[in-house]
Amino acid sequence: MVAKYNGPVCKLCRREGIKLFLKGDRCYTGKCAVDRRTYAPGQHGQNKKKISDYGLHLREKQKARRVYGVLERQFRRYVGLASKARGVTGETLLRILERRLDNVVYRMGFAGSRAEARQLILHNHFAINGRKVNIPSYLLRPGDEIEVREKSRNLARFLELAEQFQGRAVPEWLSVDRQAMKGTIVRLPEREEIDTPVKESLIVEHYSR
Ligand code: SF4
Repeated sequence: MVAKYNGPVCKLCRREGIKLFLKGDRCYTGKCAVDRRTYAPGQHGQNKKKISDYGLHLREKQKARRVYGVLERQFRRYVGLASKARGVTGETLLRILERRLDNVVYRMGFAGSRAEARQLILHNHFAINGRKVNIPSYLLRPGDEIEVREKSRNLARFLELAEQFQGRAVPEWLSVDRQAMKGTIVRLPEREEIDTPVKESLIVEHYSR
């Protein structure tokens, strides 16, 4: 079973006070809940609250978990992996999150959101280096080739996405052939190429308390 958050996703964005882009197309329209209501959800959402130092660190961590759709246990595991690796732990952590197959499928434009990417991956629509992979958390490496499997390429959703993303730029660490519905990890991203709005050093501090 793949663990996932099933609640109303726009609430998560309103809680963090920023757009986390969890809903695909809707996030780019005037219907976005953050654009319409800038305060937190719930009865006390409009009360101005002073946030503690612990709270600040916690919120940053929750924000990252929500953007990438990762549950606490898995996230903690990533922090552990990052702290053992060489380099700045926070940046390594973001790089690990970016290497997830669901994130890459979304970044390449083969899904409208990371949540949709997870669904499509679970339904066996993708292959890595020619072999079927249906694990959204699969961690990719430079040189890996991701493709929509041949039998899935004519599905209405993929054709629609191909049209929608036609001409749209992908991050430079990825290359995409939209016609062939495949892409490659050219290299791992630099920090400034990751547009996730989190302060990763606060996340690392949260776990080292
Ligand atoms: Fe977040 Fe997208 Fe909902 Fe806006 S529309 S609140 S960005 S999930």
